[in-house]
Amino acid sequence: MARSVLKIDLDALVANWRDLATASGKAEAGAVVKADAYGLGAGPVAARLAREGVKRFFVAIAEEGIAVRQAVGPDALIHVFGGHMAGDAAVLRENALIPMLNSAEQWQRHQSECPDLPFGIQLDTGMNRLGLEPADWAAVRDAVMAAKPALIMSHLACADEPDHAMNGQQLSAFRGMTDGIDVPRSLSATGGILLGPDYHFDVTRPGIGMYGCDPFMQGRTVTQLSIPVIQTRDVAVGESVGYGNSWIAERPTRVATIAAGYADGIIRAQSGKGKMWAGDVPCNILGRVSMDLIGIDITDLDHTPASVDLLGAHQNADAVAKFAGTIGYEILTSLGARYAREYIGA
Ligand SMILES: *Cc1c(COP(=O)(O)O)cnc(C)c1O
Repeated sequence: MARSVLKIDLDALVANWRDLATASGKAEAGAVVKADAYGLGAGPVAARLAREGVKRFFVAIAEEGIAVRQAVGPDALIHVFGGHMAGDAAVLRENALIPMLNSAEQWQRHQSECPDLPFGIQLDTGMNRLGLEPADWAAVRDAVMAAKPALIMSHLACADEPDHAMNGQQLSAFRGMTDGIDVPRSLSATGGILLGPDYHFDVTRPGIGMYGCDPFMQGRTVTQLSIPVIQTRDVAVGESVGYGNSWIAERPTRVATIAAGYADGIIRAQSGKGKMWAGDVPCNILGRVSMDLIGIDITDLDHTPASVDLLGAHQNADAVAKFAGTIGYEILTSLGARYAREYIGA
């Protein structure tokens, strides 16, 4: 079988969530499972977290809430960061989702289409991405508060840089817009949790840290991606490997061709830079990453491995991201649909 296997350790994921919940102090820790739980599978991830007692989930768009509702049962809260868009009313109602309204327009839409359904409010404190700005908020605040929002939130732009002045600026903007309000408040994702108690408020929203990536440095390894070796060959000095002849052998080299490529989210930018792991031994990627295949150097191994790992204990998504010039979030959310996903602790 040439299908790669993506093993997802839900026991490790839960342990990471518990650490982030502890780091959230008195605040309730929710769980962010948008983008199919960062590529790991929203159904199995959310179901296990719900069994562990997580009561509040976050998704990006209403449609993502359908699978999460099926996984977590009727009681957990599911918030939608994208708010209430035109056409969302039926999905919100049928799945009991809580849209985080981000504009006066969304507030009006929610009032006219679903006045009986819960909602939350998203405020912009400087990131200029989603949420009501201070003047928008002042204009609708009394009417919104009379309708009792379920949660008021904002999002930090620079939380992964603890010394950045933006963190304090956004904290005081959030306080200025919400102090004295009797509604649960939420400001922090993984990075904000680690900034300390001032940033915790009532609810935290950990995502990437649960999945074992920065900025939660002590996170456990959650993913192992094993890619089968399809063929091996010996290449003489001066011969090339792969498209464009971009790698040329400088020593007699044993090359293994493995069965995954950029169509599986193994970003092509790591051509000639990235590594796969055969047990404890790193094997360089030789030349360009193809759509479905990659050549790697196994000269230093004393055997031909049946498969090699892109992700595992030696190399997490952040390490892969460095070779590809991106961040761990993009590596995880790019993980391909072709992988067989196997769950430990489902
Ligand atoms: C993605 C996201 C989160 C989770 O962020 P992490 O950095 O993955 O912990 C929290 N809140 C909002 C608004 C988000 O978009």
